[in-house]
Amino acid sequence: MFEGPVQDLIDAFRKLPGIGTKSAQRIAFHILKSELEDAEKLADAITDAKKKVAICDTCFNVAEGASCLYCRDPRRDTSLICVVEEPPDIIAVERTNEFRGRYHVLGGHLSPMDGIGPDQLRIRELIARVGSDEVSEVILCTNPTVEGEVTATYISGLLKPLAVKVTRIASGLPVGGDLEYADEITLGRALEQRREV
Ligand SMILES: [Zn+2]
Repeated sequence: MFEGPVQDLIDAFRKLPGIGTKSAQRIAFHILKSELEDAEKLADAITDAKKKVAICDTCFNVAEGASCLYCRDPRRDTSLICVVEEPPDIIAVERTNEFRGRYHVLGGHLSPMDGIGPDQLRIRELIARVGSDEVSEVILCTNPTVEGEVTATYISGLLKPLAVKVTRIASGLPVGGDLEYADEITLGRALEQRREV
């Protein structure tokens, strides 16, 4: 619809999650109207993040080095592990102020239709962590969606033989929604009322 670089920019934004054609056009033209310096800052922020941001060796959250800020923090309770699907879910849990343990990021949920089985997620790493660390409880905090529930059930089956307490956040969260969109009071209550599975 537009010539060369303009269309390339629109196409690049359209590939982002939640951005349709109209939004992509709006962002692209906003950038074209802005100062070159601002556009360069944005481009630098993207390449900088790609170059500097690593994955935590322990929990697979995003990190600036080998360990993320939660794994580095000595005040956090190492006996509690909260299992989430993606890094933004950690922010949702942190906002509740109900959890002072550590995290484990699966990298998604089980979805056989999309070719995502247990080997595509960080499940093996979780089992290894629970087996070697002094973990007393694993809280399954996957999304309240069908896939999230299936993933939680699958993991709890694997953890059972390890003699660790396994809990699931209480229902009451909007079903089908993502954790990251839940308000902190509702999610805080779901955490507090977690039940053993
Ligand atoms: Zn970490």
